[in-house]
Amino acid sequence: MLKIFNTLSRKKEIFKSVKERGARSKKEIGLYTCGPTVYNYAHIGNLRTYVFEDILRRTLESVRYKVKHVMNITDIDDKIIHGAQKEGKNIFEFTKIYEKTFFEDLNKLNIKKAWKYPKATVHIKEMIQLVKELLDKKLAYVAENGVYFDISRFKKYGKLSGISKLGQNIGMMKSRILTDEYSKANAQDFALWKFKKDGEPSWKAPFGEGRPGWHLECSAMSMKYLGKSFDIHAGGVDLIFPHHENEIAQSEGATGKKFAKYFLEGEHLLVAGEKMSKSKGNVFTLRDIEKRKVSPLAFRYFVLGAHYRSKLNFTWDALWASQRAFLRLYEVVRIIKKQGSRDKGQGKAYRNVEILKYRKMFKSALFDDLNTPKALAVLWNFIKNCSKFTYTDALKLLYEFDEVLGLGFKEVKLSNIPQIILNLVQKREECRREKKWKEADEIREKLKQKGFIIEDTSKGPKLSPTSPLI
Ligand code: AMP
Ligand code: ZN
Repeated sequence: MLKIFNTLSRKKEIFKSVKERGARSKKEIGLYTCGPTVYNYAHIGNLRTYVFEDILRRTLESVRYKVKHVMNITDIDDKIIHGAQKEGKNIFEFTKIYEKTFFEDLNKLNIKKAWKYPKATVHIKEMIQLVKELLDKKLAYVAENGVYFDISRFKKYGKLSGISKLGQNIGMMKSRILTDEYSKANAQDFALWKFKKDGEPSWKAPFGEGRPGWHLECSAMSMKYLGKSFDIHAGGVDLIFPHHENEIAQSEGATGKKFAKYFLEGEHLLVAGEKMSKSKGNVFTLRDIEKRKVSPLAFRYFVLGAHYRSKLNFTWDALWASQRAFLRLYEVVRIIKKQGSRDKGQGKAYRNVEILKYRKMFKSALFDDLNTPKALAVLWNFIKNCSKFTYTDALKLLYEFDEVLGLGFKEVKLSNIPQIILNLVQKREECRREKKWKEADEIREKLKQKGFIIEDTSKGPKLSPTSPLI
């Protein structure tokens, strides 16, 4: 039984898909996650959220749900327009590089590809249609600089974030906020559509030429691909209000149907107690951590060490500690893999019951609202006791755990010796063949400095690292 925390009820709920009763493909579920605004490189705070969403998806898949995952790409907004203007490019030229690196980052982090990555600029038609429906239903009105959603006309406004409309005198104020990221303290009418300004990209619409607001994009694209009612909507906690609240208002206002059944929002990655964010200038990218010789998957391991609903403070020391643990993990997998290839079935008896016990503990950790720190503890516990099992069985279970953890166990190479070391070994062999003993000894010394000891055996040179972390 998979339990997930639903922001709508503020409780852990048993997950049951919207199609669960009577539908033909009850195992197919819809997951929509808010994607990047491609005006800059994703920072590792954004990536923390994408890793959490990947764990969510993989956990659902582990119970054999077929997950139709949609993640939008916001390729039109204020920041993109300003960035493009500054560089003298059109928005498509400007966003191209950030979009490309976004996909590279996902790949490096072993984040599974979504079913669709719809772009805002390709779905203007659907957005215009949604605004038309909201105008028809008098849930929206046309003001001097755009079309606005009238939150006083949507009774359930605030049901996700708990924000109150009372005391704001919204009907009287009709605050008109053109930017999408307004003060978190105020419930306000928000822009569905912003009228054309000189030098800005715009699209023709019956209510006036302009461009869509950010909230509108997600409503239009999620419903296009997943239907009016779908299963899960996810993002970071900063999106609860106003973004997700506004998405609910627009979508449910237009369709009269429940939008997403579950809302899951992951906590932030912090730096010195503050949210990592581009506007605060305290960001690091995946490239920054790679420059410091940290593997992207060690960052993934670092993220899994905290529950997605807990804040996680980023420090280099903490990241390096994660990298050390991650490398130890790889070393164990490597040893088991090597031994496994020699396991001819005559090893220790298959301890079925014990394996089942670990599998159950691992699953119950994940099924309890994706408790990854606990799942990692089960993994380490299993590793500590894995001499009880045949290598083949141990490896099988580790691979099974990794289907959800996504740490790349299958990719662990049997040999982790860098090419440069292998070249030195070969050169030493040549020197030995040519009886250049002095040079051969110098190479042996060089190898030692690089962390490898070489022994000459009857079967040829044998290389062993001086540390398990190499
Ligand atoms: P953005 O590109 O700013 O729209 O953000 C993309 C995703 O990253 C959204 O789901 C945000 O909620 C999330 N996000 C932004 N900053 C952080 C952070 N410091 N920690 C975790 N997630 C974040
Ligand atoms: Zn969104």
